[in-house]
Amino acid sequence: MSTLNLYNTRTRAREPFRPARAGSVGLYCCGPTVYHDAHLGNLRTYVFEDLLVRALRLDGLSVEHVRNITDVGHLVGDSDSGEDKMEQGARREGRGVLEIADHYTRLFDRDLRRLNIVDATRTPRATEHIPEQIEMVAGLLAKGHAYAAEDGIYFDVASFPRYAEFARKDLGGQEAGARVRPRGGLRHPGDFALWKLSPPGSRRLMEWDSPWGKGFPGWHIECSAMSLKWLGATFDIHCGGVDHIPVHHSNEIAQSEAYLGVHPWVNVWLHGEFLVLDKGKMSKTGGEFLTLSTLLERGYDPMDYRFFCLGTHYRAPLTFAYEALDGARAGRLALRARLAADPGAAEGTPEAARAHPLWAKFWAQVSDDLNSPRALAVAWEAAKDPGLDPGMKRALVRAMDAWLGLGLLETGAPAPELGAEERALLEERARARAAKDWARSDALREELRRRGIAVNDGRDGQRWERENAGPR
Ligand code: AMP
Ligand code: ZN
Repeated sequence: MSTLNLYNTRTRAREPFRPARAGSVGLYCCGPTVYHDAHLGNLRTYVFEDLLVRALRLDGLSVEHVRNITDVGHLVGDSDSGEDKMEQGARREGRGVLEIADHYTRLFDRDLRRLNIVDATRTPRATEHIPEQIEMVAGLLAKGHAYAAEDGIYFDVASFPRYAEFARKDLGGQEAGARVRPRGGLRHPGDFALWKLSPPGSRRLMEWDSPWGKGFPGWHIECSAMSLKWLGATFDIHCGGVDHIPVHHSNEIAQSEAYLGVHPWVNVWLHGEFLVLDKGKMSKTGGEFLTLSTLLERGYDPMDYRFFCLGTHYRAPLTFAYEALDGARAGRLALRARLAADPGAAEGTPEAARAHPLWAKFWAQVSDDLNSPRALAVAWEAAKDPGLDPGMKRALVRAMDAWLGLGLLETGAPAPELGAEERALLEERARARAAKDWARSDALREELRRRGIAVNDGRDGQRWERENAGPR
């Protein structure tokens, strides 16, 4: 039994979650292509998946969580032609492909740890599962779902009538419009590569022998092969960003269902909406490229970004702006300050916390398709409640933080209370006051207030304190 209700992309409905095997969940999340740093958008998706994993476990389920590492086959432009992203990364940095993969996998793990994202139970690499992928391609050929074209083996989408169902896409239109002409002997423009042959006369950095010649797997087959190996022929939940619905996940479903003869291959599909910049898309190849390290260099704490992500439901697009991140930071610090106000109280037991009505209110939000903004509001309610025994308050917030993952009660090295920019604004205001530039001083006070910092002028100079702003 589970108490969670989750929005399932497959059925386009919010449904009570029912794992196939009582008490345990098989979960597959598409992992990073390790040729570059992860950007803040990618990390938003992993934060959302972390909320899912934590919710399932808090709900009493054991979770086998597989997150792959894509280290071959993902071509520039997410298509079937163009350079392999891994080879592009190796060329850009003058290093070997394996070195690049190891380097960016380490950086990825570091980012996840910084964001309090719980480790996956298994993190298989595509290059370590080449025989499994070849076996699947051979099986698809034998069953008539694949064919040989000029430069490799392709999946025949026309052989799989449900192909367009998942993304609700209009394949017929694609043919009739004939804007996309089938390339290189393909039967249908929607057909996608299962195995690509190395171009004649040139050596790729990564290539393997196969029954069809030297080459490398297509991008999608790795997820079908690795989930089969580590989670079995059918499993409960599959996640990724919304961009995966029309191509990568539609293709995974076609391959797996055609090969295994099952339907549905995966019961529940969850997709995280994108993080966007006000100027548009954030991607690894274009636009402004923001990483977690960019934020740390600017004086933010990783938890500021996690708090920022939690302030918006995972199925709503989120626009990144520093002002909004400042708001999240102010909210997080104010919440921590509230909780630090009663440090001496003996903490209530976890059982007592879970029996409290505020826990029920909190869990109602978690189970409502992981509603993090509303759950945060309940955490605020607990923190602010003057009638709540301080020991119970701490126990409740600790229980809530097991899902939020914000380290709200952690007392390690205190996070710097003022960011570099905030400090500069305060210093500038002190100078403006010394110069009796009251208009400038007031404008700076207003600017600081917008960032959640209240400034008061005393006889011995200006004082500041964090306003108790709730999460935005
Ligand atoms: P990649 O490393 O490009 O294969 O992507 C890793 C994960 O990040 C996938 O689940 C993508 O769907 C997701 N993703 C890519 N761009 C964004 C974005 N701007 N916002 C949120 N998720 C994203
Ligand atoms: Zn995948």
